[in-house]
This record gives sequence, structure tokens and C-alpha cells, in this order.
Amino acid sequence: MEGDGARSAITLGPVDVPKAPDVLARELRERILSGELKEGAALPAERELVKQTQMSRATVREALRILEVQNLVRVKAGRAGGAFVQRPTTASMAKSVSTLIRGRQIKLADLMETREALEPFCAELAAIKRTEADLATLDRANGAIAAPDADLSQFLQANVDWHVGVAIASHNELLIGFMTALSQAIYTGTENAAFVDDSVRAATARAHKSVTKAIRDKDAETAGRRMRTHVHTYAAAALKVDQRDSITVDN
Ligand SMILES: [Zn+2]
Repeated sequence: MEGDGARSAITLGPVDVPKAPDVLARELRERILSGELKEGAALPAERELVKQTQMSRATVREALRILEVQNLVRVKAGRAGGAFVQRPTTASMAKSVSTLIRGRQIKLADLMETREALEPFCAELAAIKRTEADLATLDRANGAIAAPDADLSQFLQANVDWHVGVAIASHNELLIGFMTALSQAIYTGTENAAFVDDSVRAATARAHKSVTKAIRDKDAETAGRRMRTHVHTYAAAALKVDQRDSITVDN
């Protein structure tokens, strides 16, 4: 041992000690994400968790609050209450992507580019994997978009429903999450009556119908090609009149 006065050449940075609630939350999160804890399973009651983990009541509560904010548990009040496991869904993914689009002020042009990359592939997959229920959803959206008395918001909603419907028919959860978020953002970005005139509406309704037909016929190549043409044409028309360099998305 050196004397008290000697200086060591060794230096240490500040040590980052993880906080107890974070440690417990991480432990539970891993078990939820790995599938070990099933959807809807009840976590032990608070006092039971305190006993099992030997952590304080405040720590257990804070850990559960962290998981609740991350949408990984649902806390119900009352006698039959408690914390219940909630596994991530495409809806929670869509929400994260929406938050990113909004928080980073992603430009409409970038949204459109992403859509052009993803949607033709969604349409190809949809042609291979679609079910009768998927086709019924697309038919409903096609009926709504062609309704003669539809106002702008009804038109845009039918547009979103159809595009999300194609993604759902792809049966790929990542694509569904991305497309749900992108479609909502594009809805907001194209909420422009000057752009959505009668001819844009008619062309959109026609394009949706012809892509739907290819999906129904299980013709993946045609579905992809028609979707590419549609999203490209729509993007070009929207960007021509888009004066804004950023958009906002409502969650
Ligand atoms: Zn469309």
C-alpha cells in the first residue's frame, strides 16, 4: 500500500449505477418480449412482487409505471385489478413511427419516397397471401372512395383504409405497422382540397380498383406494377402543390 499522500496515476470516471426500478422494469420487459409472460397474464400483486424481489414498494410501483408508459403492461384498478401483460402490437409500432415522423418533422417528399419503396411490395405480397376477409376490406374502401357525395375527409379516409388494407393483406406485421403510420402522416400531408380535385379522385378510385383486381386474381406482378404507378403518380401530384416543407401528424 502506498501512503495516504501518494497520488495514483489511475483515474476512474463516474460510475453509472442503474436505478432499482429500471433494473426491475428491464427484467420484466425481457420476460414479456421473449414471450415467457403471455399476453393478458396477471403479474403478481404489488405486495407479492415486493416479497419476491425484496425491493421496496416504491421501486415496484415505479417499475410497473415504466412498463405501463412503454405499453407493456396494462394497469387495471379495482378488486379484479392489477398489472396485466400486454405484448407490443402493430398499433404500438405505428404509434412509435408516427411519433418519429412528427418529432423529426419528416418531409412529405420523404414519406412519399418511403411509400414508393414499400407499397408495391405490399401489393405483391397481398396478391399471394390475401384472404376473403382482406378482399372484403378492400372492396369496402373502394365503395367508399367512389361514393359521389364523399367529402374530402371521407375521400382521404377511404384512401388510407385501402392502403392500410393492402398492407394488412400482406400479412407482414412490420409492413402493417409502417404503412399504418405512413398512411396517417400522408393523410395529414395531403389534406389539401386544391390537390384533391375531381380528376385526382376519379384516377385514385380507378387505380385502387385495378390493383384490387390483380390482388383478387393472385397476380403479384401486375399488383406490384399497378401499385408502383399509382403511388408514384399520386406522390408527383401531391408534391407539386405542396408548399410546406414539413407536416404534423395527429396521434
Ligand atoms: Zn391511393
